[in-house]
Amino acid sequence: KELGRNQYQFYKELPRRKDGEKNLALETGLRYALERGELEVYYQPKVEVDSGRCYAAEALLRWRRPGHGLVSPGQFIPLAEESGLIVEIGEWLLRTVCLQIAQWRDAGLDMAVAVNLSPHQFRQKNLLERIDAILEATGTDRSRLEFEITESTMMHDPQQAVDTVRRLKSRGLALSIDDFGTGYSSLSYLKLFPVDYLKIDRSFVQDIDAQQADPRIVRAIIALAHSLDIRVVAEGVETAGQFEFLKRHQCDLIQGYFFGPPMPADELMERARPGRPS
Ligand code: C2E
Ligand code: CA
Ligand code: CA
Ligand code: CA
Repeated sequence: KELGRNQYQFYKELPRRKDGEKNLALETGLRYALERGELEVYYQPKVEVDSGRCYAAEALLRWRRPGHGLVSPGQFIPLAEESGLIVEIGEWLLRTVCLQIAQWRDAGLDMAVAVNLSPHQFRQKNLLERIDAILEATGTDRSRLEFEITESTMMHDPQQAVDTVRRLKSRGLALSIDDFGTGYSSLSYLKLFPVDYLKIDRSFVQDIDAQQADPRIVRAIIALAHSLDIRVVAEGVETAGQFEFLKRHQCDLIQGYFFGPPMPADELMERARPGRPS
């Protein structure tokens, strides 16, 4: 019996427990990461297709975890989300971004920054009040702050999402639908969401390959967005071929390694500084 149980554990529980231990260590580490100042914000340029100008930046979290190097958010955001830590982390990030906007402004760079809102954050009852409090405390110009919400987050409860989106908009904050094309939204919903930008998911951009690309899906998304006065951002643009394709099909903004990876604030300023050729 003893052996049977051990065998069971070996086959069934051990892997799971290992996973659990890893998660617990990660969660404990993450809890302290905030206090110890191990979290950082990187910024990735959003470039205007026509002018080549760095139009705005997206704030992306990084965790400089001792002994592990720079940990990407894919590895800890889901856990932060599960444990609820995302709320505290999100507030720290928003405060950090607001202070950065002011610092850039003082240095002569007028830059808007987009912040990602997780499903948990998006559903928070007092989200608007928390955002207002941080904007006020940091004296941030709200026209410089934007939020990105994924299509699947919005589609989780479309009625409530429409309401939250409208309230954010009425506060003068710009909004993007993130990862568009992956969330199975009925296209008719799009006109209910008063968003400013639609971000075409990287998977569609990857499919673009100068010769055999089927331009129909990307072209249809762009046309639909434009007919609703929504500007289109393509994410994950890595090659000149992808860029040319998107430019030809009237995409408004481009984000991706082709123009620049997420980078520390100082580097972004060097790149975006007016007068510097990009
Ligand atoms: P996302 O919002 O879709 O962000 C874009 C991701 O694509 C980023 O990954 C970025 O580094 C990566 N990327 C940008 N250009 C390229 C490219 O040309 N090629 C490729 N292969 N990748 C590119 P990252 O920084 O690892 O972030 C992953 C996800 O984590 C984000 O996806 C976002 O959903 C989430 N995340 C990041 N920061 C935050 C945050 O502060 N709050 C919340 N709630 N989520 C965040
Ligand atoms: Ca995003
Ligand atoms: Ca995205
Ligand atoms: Ca994506």
